[in-house]
Amino acid sequence: MESKEKDQGKPHRISLTSEGTLSIPDTPAVPFIEGDGIGPDIWAATKGVLDAAIRFAYGDRRRLIWSEVLAGEKAHRETGEWLPEGTLQAIKNHVVAIKGPLTTPVGKGIRSVNVRLRQRLDLYACVRPVRYIRGVPSPMRHPEKVNMVVFRENTEDVYAGIEWEAQSREAEAVIAFLKAKMGVDVAKDSAIGVKPMSRRASMRLVARAIQYALDHDLPSVTLVHKGNIMKYTEGAFMKWGYEVAREMFGEHIVVESESRPQPDGKAQQGKVVIKDRIADMMFQQVLLRPEAYHVIATPNLNGDYLSDALAAQVGGLGMAPGANLSDNCAVFEATHGTAPKYAGQDRANPISLILSGVMLLQYLGWVEAASAIEQAVQQSIADGLVTYDLARQMPGSQELKCSEFAQAVIERLTPCLSRLKAAPTGSKLEATPSASDK
Ligand code: NAP
Repeated sequence: MESKEKDQGKPHRISLTSEGTLSIPDTPAVPFIEGDGIGPDIWAATKGVLDAAIRFAYGDRRRLIWSEVLAGEKAHRETGEWLPEGTLQAIKNHVVAIKGPLTTPVGKGIRSVNVRLRQRLDLYACVRPVRYIRGVPSPMRHPEKVNMVVFRENTEDVYAGIEWEAQSREAEAVIAFLKAKMGVDVAKDSAIGVKPMSRRASMRLVARAIQYALDHDLPSVTLVHKGNIMKYTEGAFMKWGYEVAREMFGEHIVVESESRPQPDGKAQQGKVVIKDRIADMMFQQVLLRPEAYHVIATPNLNGDYLSDALAAQVGGLGMAPGANLSDNCAVFEATHGTAPKYAGQDRANPISLILSGVMLLQYLGWVEAASAIEQAVQQSIADGLVTYDLARQMPGSQELKCSEFAQAVIERLTPCLSRLKAAPTGSKLEATPSASDK
């Protein structure tokens, strides 16, 4: 299948120009990682939808030439490695990639392949737009008020992978060091984890979030941290966040605590309001006053928790797309994991990965195809054609398999494209970093 495609269109590489912008050919090769668990099902559905949308929008002029790269269980089966060097190199070379979810065993076994991928490619910003699609069942009374983009720091914090098992040689050495050099008592049977948070990584993440708010005319950026307890890590994240806001964006921002409060969180004099919230309180804020928050910049663990909670507010993990961005490449992926109990059953909801594909298309500037997919997804849901997770909450809906849902979306692409051409209002769900954000 893949080789037949190569014969039909010559793949070219996306590249970075010396000005740091993307040079995008009409037939770029794009690496994909199928993923574990439900990965093969949702990837097949996503690929079908992306290919059809590009074909309907651009005819023979444009296409993505998919090239499989291995990671996770499939890589281990075929090469003995979980994350082969060739995969990292291919993603670097092609600048853009898309991946399904990968398994990480809990409490034992290999370290997370996802975390290693993000660290090795320096994909420091995990960007997760959370927006409600009309008709999706939600536990909220007003889910349409949720419209946020989470920028989660992706390389540090307790996810850095620096931890040692209780009573290991390393844990005992650290405990002895803490006692001897720092005068700190830690119980002898403790496991030890390290939470590094650097000024550089915190600042570049916050800078990217503020730039995004400015580019998309959004009223506020909220720094979410637990700095009241973890003063020198999470507290420093907040401090560095304000520092970079003032240093890099001085004319374009106001700091909430230094300005007259605006109850709706709207920008003052066209400026982006920079505010901060303590993480636990933020979980209540996004439930009670979601309309007051627009862009969230936060360390790794807070961002992981918060983006899953926000996804639940708009209908669950099957709905939430994401992108991992460095300064040189971008890897698009669903927010959810491998959902092992649905592996191989063609049942999982592919929307999260399809919308991650939409983010990829927007990143390339292929906005017609991107908007058509968003609208076709919305139309399928409005027609009551959904996978099991939404069907069980939508009386009167028809439960489709994963592949059938993709087909329903494809059937709705052409009418959506015609409507978009007649009234080019742009994407209704657009909340994505584009190549111009670089
Ligand atoms: P999960 O795979 O996200 O699944 C948890 C539950 O969320 C599922 O049982 C299902 O709920 C719902 N769900 C998730 N994706 C769905 C979809 N596409 N369609 C419909 N429902 C969906 O979380 P997990 O069970 O905690 O993690 C499983 C594995 O995935 C772990 O090895 C974990 O490390 C890994 N993981 C990988 C990534 C990644 O690759 N980026 C991210 C997170 C987790 P119901 O059963 O209620 O229907």
